[in-house]
Amino acid sequence: MIVGIDLGTTHSLIGMHGADGPVLFPNPHGQVLTPSAVSVADGAVLVGQAARDRLVSHPGDSVAHFKRWMGTDRETRLGSHRFRPEELSALVLRALLADAEAALGHKVEEAVISVPAYFSDAQRKATRTAGELAGIRVERLINEPTAAALAYGLQEREREGRILVLDLGGGTFDVSILELFDGIVEVHASAGDNFLGGEDFLQVLAHAFRQDMKLDPATLDASEQAQLLHRLEQLKRELSARSAVDLQLTLGGRELHWHMDEARYAQLCEPLLQRMRTPIERAIRDARLKPEALDDIILVGGAARMPMVVRLATRMFGRLPLRHIHPDQAIALGAAVAAGMKARDSALREVVLTDVCPYTLGTQVSRMGPDGKERTGYFHPIIQRNSVVPVSREDVFHPVHAEQKVLRFDVYQGESPTVDRNIKLGELQIPLTNHGNADRSVTTRFTYDVDGILQVEVTENATGKRHELVLEQNPGVLAPDQIQQRLQALQALKVHPRDHQPNIALIARTERLYSEHVDQREQLQGWLLQFREALESQDTQRVERHRRELGRALDELEGLQ
Ligand code: AMP
Repeated sequence: MIVGIDLGTTHSLIGMHGADGPVLFPNPHGQVLTPSAVSVADGAVLVGQAARDRLVSHPGDSVAHFKRWMGTDRETRLGSHRFRPEELSALVLRALLADAEAALGHKVEEAVISVPAYFSDAQRKATRTAGELAGIRVERLINEPTAAALAYGLQEREREGRILVLDLGGGTFDVSILELFDGIVEVHASAGDNFLGGEDFLQVLAHAFRQDMKLDPATLDASEQAQLLHRLEQLKRELSARSAVDLQLTLGGRELHWHMDEARYAQLCEPLLQRMRTPIERAIRDARLKPEALDDIILVGGAARMPMVVRLATRMFGRLPLRHIHPDQAIALGAAVAAGMKARDSALREVVLTDVCPYTLGTQVSRMGPDGKERTGYFHPIIQRNSVVPVSREDVFHPVHAEQKVLRFDVYQGESPTVDRNIKLGELQIPLTNHGNADRSVTTRFTYDVDGILQVEVTENATGKRHELVLEQNPGVLAPDQIQQRLQALQALKVHPRDHQPNIALIARTERLYSEHVDQREQLQGWLLQFREALESQDTQRVERHRRELGRALDELEGLQ
């Protein structure tokens, strides 16, 4: 059984391809979106909603947004444990797999996992390692925009086509152009803004609220700030469905009333909408396309639900974007379709998926300045960003000085003209043996394959002598023996059982509200005590009743009813 997984920054989802198409598996709360958050409580690991609530009440023991650190060595301390980003991702994967296995009644052994199109080799390898640490074989990594296109069934079309995928998540904005032809889906160009997402739109509302209410943020304590943001997040989501929303809340002893309509909200967000245009235009330019040449525009990511984003896409391309599949489920459904293809589900046409090299790869060179002085530290691209892989490119280099004995190749990835702002991948020193020769040039070939392995081959042109460097082991990527060690350590970790999750999550939510609502602390503590008592009684009916009542009371407190 192969499942499809969207391992997202804010949420993760798991699904499979069933008889009637892709389906998603619910978590113990009955929801298909599981927050990508991990917390350690009483020495055991918690994943999902409870962990997200504990970010507020137990920040030192909880973590989220670790997808951003994939491919780095950054470690997070939770309780007495330290975790690498791929280990945190593995814990999320394990929780998702437990949900799928509970629904299916048998073990899941393989998965297709989606990754952003711009993910580097190190980030892709870290994602594969996360799968391994979660005890599954990662059949394939699929680019998120490709998954979105599969969810819409665009691969089934007979004719060729070009699709633009706009993905506006919580913290990032990704733009990709896909090309479909002869059953092949190819990522043609990808661009994005790693610091633009739904969170920024929330900050616009927070700023407007403080200005309108003449509220000095310094007068609010941390719990009031958290409460305000929580209410504004609800308001933001409501503005995706209604043209105006009224907000009432008590802050610092003041009763506040606020009215916001969608038109004003969109006007306030104009600078963010302008910023969204830049990567869209860059992707179109990189793909050497005219906007009219695009056949479809797909909107994905929770924040793409905002009407202003739909209007932006409609205005830029003169047609309505596709968005009838839930924008926060499209990638997971597409990963499930890809999983179905892998399992050779006869209902699906086989599609070949190709990838691009998401970054420019090149070497450091010296350049002669206008003053005749030589300056080093310049980046010389050999494989340009968005080249379809496998790809092989070569270039000829000459030593700068006639008497030079060694030629040094520093290999970099990145988009900056100077190497100090790119990432160094490795180096190769070539002893120049051909002193007597007039031709002291070398030919350098970069070959990048589908598994993200870069081979650098340097040939001395006069003698034909070859030197080689294979860049496989990136910094920030674990070696196989290290993976085995980490696997054992993770297996020894205690995990809160899946069927206790709804109760644990309710306690975590009550504790979050306790830290957010100073005025209601006594009441919240009382409820917590009653609920714990019910749990200790082990009387299922009593627990059930208390859970319903407490859930309702908390909804009311959060203004959800
Ligand atoms: P994702 O990373 O796709 O889960 O996106 C999460 C982001 O989408 C967060 O910033 C949410 O605030 C935002 N979001 C989710 N639902 C809505 C909605 N109905 N309207 C506006 N923004 C939303």
